[in-house]
Amino acid sequence: MQLYQNQQLKIYNSLSGEKEIFTPLHTGSVGMYVCGPTVYSNVHLGNCRTFISFDLVYRYLKHLGYKVRYVRNITDVGHIEDDADEGEDKIAKKARLEKLEPMEIVQQYSVDFHQILELFNNLPPSIEPTATGHIIEQIETIKEILDNGFGYVSKGSVYFDVEKFNKEYDYGKLSGRNLEDMMSNSRELAGQDEKRNPADFALWKRAEPEHIMRWPSPWGDGFPGWHLECTAMSTKYLGSRFDIHGGGMDLKFPHHECEIAQNEAATGQSPVNYWMHANMLTLNGKKMSKSTGNNILPREIFTGNNDKLSKAFSPSVARFFMLQAHYRSVLDFSDDAILASEKGYNKLMESLSTITEVKASSSSTLDIEIWKQNCYDAMNDDFNSPILIAQLFEGVRYINLLKDGKETLTAQDIDNLAKAMHAFVFDILGLKDEKGQDGSNDKLEGVINMLIEMRREARANKDFALSDQIRNRLTTLGIELKDTKEGTTFSIN
Ligand code: AMP
Ligand code: ZN
Repeated sequence: MQLYQNQQLKIYNSLSGEKEIFTPLHTGSVGMYVCGPTVYSNVHLGNCRTFISFDLVYRYLKHLGYKVRYVRNITDVGHIEDDADEGEDKIAKKARLEKLEPMEIVQQYSVDFHQILELFNNLPPSIEPTATGHIIEQIETIKEILDNGFGYVSKGSVYFDVEKFNKEYDYGKLSGRNLEDMMSNSRELAGQDEKRNPADFALWKRAEPEHIMRWPSPWGDGFPGWHLECTAMSTKYLGSRFDIHGGGMDLKFPHHECEIAQNEAATGQSPVNYWMHANMLTLNGKKMSKSTGNNILPREIFTGNNDKLSKAFSPSVARFFMLQAHYRSVLDFSDDAILASEKGYNKLMESLSTITEVKASSSSTLDIEIWKQNCYDAMNDDFNSPILIAQLFEGVRYINLLKDGKETLTAQDIDNLAKAMHAFVFDILGLKDEKGQDGSNDKLEGVINMLIEMRREARANKDFALSDQIRNRLTTLGIELKDTKEGTTFSIN
């Protein structure tokens, strides 16, 4: 099915600041690279939002009939705490604190990342390369940059010469920054004397004797700079020029700006046709972030184990909550907002499960083709999922009108409506019918509340054996009771 021939997809390109008609380099095929996680801690809901945003892009491109090669890396070395190349490697630091091997940290959090994304029903990428698995390619890229005169070696480290690069190319074209401003604003940091210019960034860092994650190179033992892995791996798997590069908005500078510079310095050409940036998930109006602790973990959502939550929510409800905002808008998480999403999600799922009850007529009073095109128009307009969802609720309204006999459809149109609803809800938005598999299960909640009530009565009658038995039996089943001043609450693990 090559639907893409009939649908004109537009993508907002961060490089031009405009929505552009999407034309892949090779007809029918798309190469897409998305920056993956740095695996030194559990992914938080904010990280998940970015990966869900690009899962939507991947799913829609596939739905349109494109053959998509989706590359998403795992950063397992080189991500330094500070953007100015100072401080410890995030993974090495965690390994030191936990007294573990860095690769144990990498394994633990890569597994967590995969499990969480699977729960969210994200499709796995076509290739998931790791930075440590591509040291040779990164060294080769550095050699090319040095050969072309855009880097220099300093005390066993290699830096990118931003000023020199900016004379021939435009450093700052993605983020809209200009080099003079960057230079005048940058602090002189200790150890920066290795750099000719504070705006320069590391391609290779010399490893101090105590540094565990180290590899031999023509410049001595060391490890690659963070920005380099994405240049080396995207070029290896997608070529020196490819269609889409994505990541969170916070990666625009310096990470993506540096990626462009490295590619241009190595190959002479700008690597990406469409740069896409997903906006941030916030909590209390501030960006969710690992380092500040202002975040919620997905498992806390699925179990309800967080003071900010009144109950548990299924992965599909959390996914639906995120897709109700456009990927380029900031979205603030709150219990009220996700409760509202759950109502909408339940309504959508109920409607889908009753679509078979609609009886066919000899004629149609609704134009399903127009409605379906409205759904495509929403997605074609830079993957506008909130508008698509509004159209899907229009579909729900149709289903209700049909069931009430207020409108009619032929058997063929009913089939058309049902298939389109399924395709948009399950294949494109990637939702699952998880009603009843989580805290939204009213019957289970009712039973637990009944047991809590019986336990309260047992305690009032000083029958502590019974009250303990209720608590323990529930714990064995993975249901945790928590006694608070306001009463007893529960969470399902
Ligand atoms: P990291 O592991 O920190 O490199 O982040 C992995 C991905 O999550 C990157 O694409 C980030 O831009 C993205 N990200 C980090 N914080 C948030 C947030 N609060 N909302 C959305 N995306 C985020
Ligand atoms: Zn990257």
